[in-house]
Amino acid sequence: MNTIELDNQYVMHTYARLPVVFVRGEGCFVYDDAGRQYLDLLAGIAVNGLGHCHPKVVAAIREQAGVLMHTCNLYHTALQPKLAKLLAEASGMTKAFFCNSGAEANEAAIKLARKAAKLAGYPEKTEIITALGSFHGRTLAAITATGQSKYQKAFTPLPPGFMYVPYNDVDALKEAAGEKTCAIMMEPVQGESGVHPATPEFLRVARELCDSLGAALIFDEVQTGLGRTGKLFGFQHYDVVPDVMTLAKTLGGGFPIGACLAKGKYAEVFEPGDHASTFGGNPLACAAAIAATTEIIEGGWVENSREVGAYFAERLRALPGITEVRGMGLMIGADLDFSGFPLRSNPETPVAKQIVIESLAKGLIINATGETTLRFVPPLIISKELVDMAIQRLQAAICESVAQQ
Ligand code: PLP
Repeated sequence: MNTIELDNQYVMHTYARLPVVFVRGEGCFVYDDAGRQYLDLLAGIAVNGLGHCHPKVVAAIREQAGVLMHTCNLYHTALQPKLAKLLAEASGMTKAFFCNSGAEANEAAIKLARKAAKLAGYPEKTEIITALGSFHGRTLAAITATGQSKYQKAFTPLPPGFMYVPYNDVDALKEAAGEKTCAIMMEPVQGESGVHPATPEFLRVARELCDSLGAALIFDEVQTGLGRTGKLFGFQHYDVVPDVMTLAKTLGGGFPIGACLAKGKYAEVFEPGDHASTFGGNPLACAAAIAATTEIIEGGWVENSREVGAYFAERLRALPGITEVRGMGLMIGADLDFSGFPLRSNPETPVAKQIVIESLAKGLIINATGETTLRFVPPLIISKELVDMAIQRLQAAICESVAQQ
């Protein structure tokens, strides 16, 4: 059996994988089992911020793998507090809890907010307000926080206590918030919904409501964090600081690690026994994250994200059929409108998916977040020259997909 047949037979079908087998990655490129090169503008869905196999991350992992990979969280290890300090100094948060993924980081944030309300003497204060169209992960509480019923409906009953408001709808947020609210949880820029930045007013009102109600403001920075938006953290585009912030994706430079950061009284909520993760913050993951985070900050990649992101957005705006380009830094969504122009191949396939498939055939990895929306979250190290290459391939893929071209 070849890899795809083995995969089909032995791996649960949770993913509709495209028929390509990647075997190697370097910088902004990955290579398949036939040696074909692909320019990767998806970067492991915003994970490979430093590209594939960044030498500093690889060296840190190699070195740490030969020293100590895992003990357990019942003992101190040297790198966990070092990473916590690095993230605290970079973000203004004060303490960290480490886990292995974005969903787990959000679980920690949800538990933290609920316990904080109980500690404050309000046991009935349990509601968490999130946004429609949001994405917070796939564990049961995280899909409940995720304001998209398509991810929830097969898995009911869901944990109670979650409410949803349309993203950027200030009046709906004000109406939903009340005495029972223990947290408002938002992405500063929604990713999975097709890259929608929050309005400054929405986040400002969320902050004010949390202050007046004694609730925690949680920002899910799993996708926006660590340079993706052209600032180190998404919240830095706004004059609004959260109480709790979650990270994952780019944090480990390709190695799995998640973090829930908190400040002030929220940093002191958890006590031994409240929350834990066997693998969370293990020395290997921390070594990768220290190397990746340090390089993102010191290597000028946040600035690169801002500058090359603006260039990329401009070039996308000039492409035929692209009606709107949204985003910040290298987190970009593009809406398509080819209505009236038949697709060249399967008319059942939505145009965005068709372009994703054609792009892959042309050596370009991109992603569709909806039937008519493309998402681009390339490595933060991408250059303008590689953006030009991407635009050329994307244009060819659009021509291939849409009869009008
Ligand atoms: N939060 C956001 C904003 C995300 O984009 C994602 C993943 O796409 C998650 C949480 C879940 O992260 P993970 O898949 O690591 O659990």
